[in-house]
Amino acid sequence: MPMFQRPTAIRRKTLRMILGASRDAYPNEFGAILRAEHGVITELLLIPGTVGGRRHAIFQLHQIPPDFTVVGTVHSHPSGVFHPSHEDLRLFSKFGGVHIVTGHPYDESTWGAWDYAGQPVSLDVVA
Ligand SMILES: [Zn+2]
Repeated sequence: MPMFQRPTAIRRKTLRMILGASRDAYPNEFGAILRAEHGVITELLLIPGTVGGRRHAIFQLHQIPPDFTVVGTVHSHPSGVFHPSHEDLRLFSKFGGVHIVTGHPYDESTWGAWDYAGQPVSLDVVA
């Protein structure tokens, strides 16, 4: 398991990129790895094979690179429900970072962040 500092914030630019990618993938799921600097999520890292047609985008979570800047995952729920599914919780439990789930229609109020145990994590949206 990589060592990391759990992020407390996300750049608005990064959040918008996530929401845009979620919309682009609709009706499929979008999935990516999150990277952070100094506790702020700043970057997305796409995992090959996660976009387009896969029923569950973060199924390839085991491909998370061993890199301390990797702090978690993000994926979209075309159903609009942005709480984690049972399948999500199983995957989250394997990685102690932060896991963002976006829900259709993917605006700035239809997403949430969760820890490895499925507890809500509060992330400030910063400039
Ligand atoms: Zn899910």
